[in-house]
Amino acid sequence: MKASEKNICQSCGMPMKNMTDFGTDRDGSINTDYCHYCYEDGEFTDQGISLEEKMARNIRIAEKLGMSKTTASKLARNTLPKLRRWRKSSKARQNME
Ligand SMILES: [Zn+2]
Repeated sequence: MKASEKNICQSCGMPMKNMTDFGTDRDGSINTDYCHYCYEDGEFTDQGISLEEKMARNIRIAEKLGMSKTTASKLARNTLPKLRRWRKSSKARQNME
C-alpha cells in the first residue's frame, strides 16, 4: 500500500476531498467509494457503461479541463482498470496491490 493513496472515486478516479464530492446512497448517506458524478441515490449515473466508454468519457472531460489528449488517455488507461468498479471479473483480487 502506498502512503499517497487517498479517496479517489472507484469508478472514474476523481480525487474526492469535500463531502460534496462523494456520491450518495439510497437513504441519502454518503458513499465514500464513488464521486457524485458517478453515483447518486445508490445507483451509478451511467449504469451499463463499459470500461472503454468510461475511459473515452474521462479523456474528453480531462481535455476540457486543459489536459492534453495523450496525458489524459494515459492517465485513464493507467487508472480506470484498477478501480473497484471495473475489477468485477477478478473477484479473488480484493486486496490492494
Ligand atoms: Zn466518479
